[in-house]
Amino acid sequence: MSKILANDGISDSGKVALEEKGFQVITEKVDQENLIETINKEDIKVLLVRSATTARKELIDACPNLKIIGRGGVGMDNIDVEYAKEKGLEVYNTPAASSSSVAELVFAHLFGMVRFLYESNRQMPLEGDENFKSLKKAFSGGSELTGKTLGIIGFGRIGQEVAKRAIGLGMNVLAHDKYTSEANITLNFFNGDKKTFTIESTSLKNVLKGSDFVTLHIPKLEDKAVIGAEEIGLMKDGAGIINTARGGVIDEDALMFSLDKGKLAYAALDVFTNEPNPSIHLMMHNNISLTPHIGAATLEAQDRIGEELAEKIISYFNK
Ligand code: NAD
Repeated sequence: MSKILANDGISDSGKVALEEKGFQVITEKVDQENLIETINKEDIKVLLVRSATTARKELIDACPNLKIIGRGGVGMDNIDVEYAKEKGLEVYNTPAASSSSVAELVFAHLFGMVRFLYESNRQMPLEGDENFKSLKKAFSGGSELTGKTLGIIGFGRIGQEVAKRAIGLGMNVLAHDKYTSEANITLNFFNGDKKTFTIESTSLKNVLKGSDFVTLHIPKLEDKAVIGAEEIGLMKDGAGIINTARGGVIDEDALMFSLDKGKLAYAALDVFTNEPNPSIHLMMHNNISLTPHIGAATLEAQDRIGEELAEKIISYFNK
């Protein structure tokens, strides 16, 4: 019976799927400094991690019986992937499992943004009982999403999930992707009907100029922000921007400046340059809807992640 150490946890559904096939799944967390010793002593064949546990060269060299490293989620910055592959290990991640969760968080922020919920939720507990009428006045004048244009920068897995939801709401979609020229977006309806829309990628400039809201779904490949002061300058006055991609994809200082000057009306951030200690100025800003990097953190995504890893592990050992 092969042993699997799920050091940053695994969903019950993933664990059960593995146990049904005879694997032993250990979920007690082992400290990083004791990891090599435990893997060798327990003869662990599969190490599953999320973002907390790292699997570097040293561990790969010191654990010759390890066959698979699995990352629940997308980013593999915590694993020396190429080195592991050179040494004959399989390295798996689950890139598609959380796309819907991130896309829904975008809309949680968007709906909250256009009705000022991020600020209303801060002010109501403080003065809602005494200053109800003035708060009502302050948070009136919101707007609707239907009929507005959503600009999607990065039209991969998550960008396309966002597009589906935008189309469902009756929004116009503009998309920009550096490497994809078009994508077919299929909406599946409750009654089994389907409808496919082809969306062509347009220039970054067109997306920035033409959108009421811009949402970012690109990887962080370079140090320079993709959206800085110049790009924000191209956006419509009063537009909103959402970053659930990676910290640093937007220049945070340029963003705050544009909010302070009233160029942009609102922003939403799930990811930050200096995680896990983001700028206090961002945290305190009245026009930013904030979440602590929870884009992928839904129960459904965790289930899909666990099940996808389980499937890959089972098929490896059945080969
Ligand atoms: P993906 O690889 O499927 O899509 C990314 C797309 O961006 C690709 O189509 C690529 O061609 C395009 N692209 C790359 N650089 C670009 C650029 N400079 N300009 C325009 N397009 C560019 O990735 P995905 O699964 O959709 O993930 C998108 C982002 O979301 C990643 O940064 C990922 O780390 C992040 N993410 C965040 C969370 C969260 O918890 N908030 C969860 C999962 C993923």
